[in-house]
Amino acid sequence: MSDIMEVSHLKKSYRETEAVRDLSFHVKKGELFSLLGPNGAGKSTTIDILCTLLKPDGGEVKINGCMAGKEDLQIKKDIGIVFQDSILDGSLTVRENLNLRAKLYMKKKSRIQQDVHEAILAVSAMEYIDRPYGKLSGGQRRRVDIARALIHKPKILFLDEPTAGLDPQARQDIWKMILHLKEERKMTILLTTHYMEEATVSDRIVMLDHGVVAESGTPAELKEKYQVNTLDEVFLKVAKSEGVFA
Ligand code: ADP
Repeated sequence: MSDIMEVSHLKKSYRETEAVRDLSFHVKKGELFSLLGPNGAGKSTTIDILCTLLKPDGGEVKINGCMAGKEDLQIKKDIGIVFQDSILDGSLTVRENLNLRAKLYMKKKSRIQQDVHEAILAVSAMEYIDRPYGKLSGGQRRRVDIARALIHKPKILFLDEPTAGLDPQARQDIWKMILHLKEERKMTILLTTHYMEEATVSDRIVMLDHGVVAESGTPAELKEKYQVNTLDEVFLKVAKSEGVFA
C-alpha cells in the first residue's frame, strides 16, 4: 500500500525543551497507526505539526502528496482532527453544534442536513442528537467530537488521546468505533495513546520517547523482536535497553 503520510527529520523546540527531535516515520493508506509514549514524549506536538496547526523548526511533512507549510489548505480538506479537549459548545445540542460546523464547509441546507446525518450515523450517536452536548457522558461526547471531525469526509483522521479520561466500557466502545471507521470507511487513522493495550490493535506503532522514535513496527513484530507476549513487556525491554521512558 502507498504512503499517505511522510514525516522526515521533524524538529520542534519550545525554548529549551526539545519536544520533537529528528523524528521520521511514514503511514500507509488505510492504516491504523499509533504514536505511543508516556506524557511529555512529544505526541501532541507531532500531531499538531502533522495537522498544520504548528510550524516545525525543521524537517518535512507530506500529507496525501501535499507539503505542510506550502499546501496547508488542501491538507486541511483531507484531514479531520479530534483534539484532547473538545471544541464544541456545551449549551448547544449535538445537532446544533454539528450544523454550525457543517456550515463552514457547505452552503446548501439540504446538504448540511445530509452530511450531519451521515456523520452522526458513522459514530452511532442518533439517540442523543437533540440533547445538549454538555449533558452527555464522556463517551457520548467523544463520539460527537469524532462526528464533528468527519463532517467534511476527510481521508485521514487524527485522534489525540481519544480514550483519555473515559471509563473502561466507554474506552472499549470508542475503540470499536475507530476500528469500524477503518474497516468500513477505509479511513487512514493516526492516533496518540499512552495505553499500551490499546495500541495492540493498531497496524503499526511508533514508540516515542523524549521526541525520538524508541522503537517501531507492527505489534506482532515488536513482540517477536523482544520475545515477549505483550506490548507492555516490549515497552519495559525498550526502556531497559535504551535507557528511555525515564
Ligand atoms: P505528549 O503529547 O507526549 O504528552 P507534548 O508534545 O505535549 O507530549 O510535549 C512534549 C514536551 O514539550 C513536554 O516536555 C512539554 O512540557 C513540552 N511542551 C509542549 N507544549 C509546549 C508549549 N506550548 N510550551 C512549552 N513547552 C511545551
